[in-house]
Amino acid sequence: MTTTRPTDGDIVACDNLVRIYSVADVEVVALQGLDLRIKPGEMVAIVGASGSGKSTLLNILGGLDVPTAGRAVVDGLDLARLSRGERTRYRRRTVGMIWQQTSRNLLPHLDAISNVELPMILDGRSNRQQRAEDLLELVGLHDRARHRPRELSGGEQQRVAIAVALANAPSVLLADEPTGELDSATSADVFELLRRINREVGTTIVAVTHDPLVADHVTRTVAIRDGRTSTETVRRTERSDAGDHRVIAEEFAVLDRAGRLQLPRAHIEKLALADRVRLRLEDDHVGVWPGGSTPPPSPPARPDQGDADEGQP
Ligand code: ADP
Ligand code: MG
Repeated sequence: MTTTRPTDGDIVACDNLVRIYSVADVEVVALQGLDLRIKPGEMVAIVGASGSGKSTLLNILGGLDVPTAGRAVVDGLDLARLSRGERTRYRRRTVGMIWQQTSRNLLPHLDAISNVELPMILDGRSNRQQRAEDLLELVGLHDRARHRPRELSGGEQQRVAIAVALANAPSVLLADEPTGELDSATSADVFELLRRINREVGTTIVAVTHDPLVADHVTRTVAIRDGRTSTETVRRTERSDAGDHRVIAEEFAVLDRAGRLQLPRAHIEKLALADRVRLRLEDDHVGVWPGGSTPPPSPPARPDQGDADEGQP
């Protein structure tokens, strides 16, 4: 198998990923230097406006598409360097995919259990029926094993799709707006199932979603803007003195390896930042001013006060 330089223990490592589509002599830059690192066992939500490159990223991670430049390594495999056979095995074993369109996930003429068995047949596994039954049990649909997709609700079809995606025990589950066609209550149930699988089975999950409620329930949300990682929100649970738990969410801008940073759109609009900005390095932060303005003089160093952040422009 093809391996590359170390990825610091990350199960997903995307470095400076670029994907350019050429359509009728016009180039569309879907990803422009995207960086993303995911640790084994993490559940990460990917959010971003339509057209920002989320599906392009998932297609590359799923081994369905190859980047124009940059590097994507999943579970130690450099996706740009896989042979045909390795790519087929990668798609069968290393990743499981769930799509928004329920019809894309399941074969209509097969019942639920046969849909779950199919990836195992393709991978030449034994003991398939037992495993398929266990997986349907895991997604709460043991009693629907003999139903065909059209005899299942949208939410049930997506649960079966999750069982199908888990059939060959992948290292990473990739879901592209898996609840996009479901109502909000069903959508919450399906995401709760994904969270339970992440917790109990330990599968790393990368899920694209539009639903802010979903994004609020994972430990890390990565926002993509114009084909690049723009911000990351990290959540942790803290215990107050009274003993109850509360979730602390912190938003970070992402600095890539080339030193590029995307400022939040709201900051850009508020200060009418455009084209050129002034930067100034202070002791413990970097100030950014509109290009046409004159930054205030640096505050004199006050050794008694560590918080030089206060009083930023
Ligand atoms: P998202 O999933 O965030 O909505 P996509 O990754 O689907 O975004 O698309 C990113 C950009 O790439 C869009 O501008 C889209 O039009 C373009 N794009 C996606 N797939 C193709 C393709 N197969 N051919 C040409 N352009 C594409
Ligand atoms: Mg998409």
